Amino acid sequence: MPEPYPTNSKAWLCKRCGFVVGLIRETPERVSRLDVFRRSRETVSPIDLVEADPFAVEDLDAGTVRCSRCGNRQEWHASERALERMMARRKVRTFGLEPT
Ligand SMILES: [Zn+2]
Repeated sequence: MPEPYPTNSKAWLCKRCGFVVGLIRETPERVSRLDVFRRSRETVSPIDLVEADPFAVEDLDAGTVRCSRCGNRQEWHASERALERMMARRKVRTFGLEPT
C-alpha cells in the first residue's frame, strides 16, 4: 500500500494552461515542498495519488518545472508561500502607521 498522500496539499497550476503540474505539501516543520507529476492533469482525484509512482520529482525545494501538457516552464520556490504569508502579515502590521 502506498503512503496516504497528505490532505493539506494544494494544487500547483500551470500559469499558461491551468493544468495541475504538481502538488504543494507542507511538512510538519511548515516548509513547503513540491511534488511534480509526470504528466500535468486537469484535475487531481484521489486515484491519481495511489497510482504507482505518479511523480517525476518529489520534495522539490526550488527549481524550474516544465508543464508536460503545454511546455510552459515556471519557477518554483519553497519560500514563495512563506514569503506571501510574511507579506500578508507585514501589510496588517504596518497598516495605519504614519508614513515616515
Ligand atoms: Zn501547461
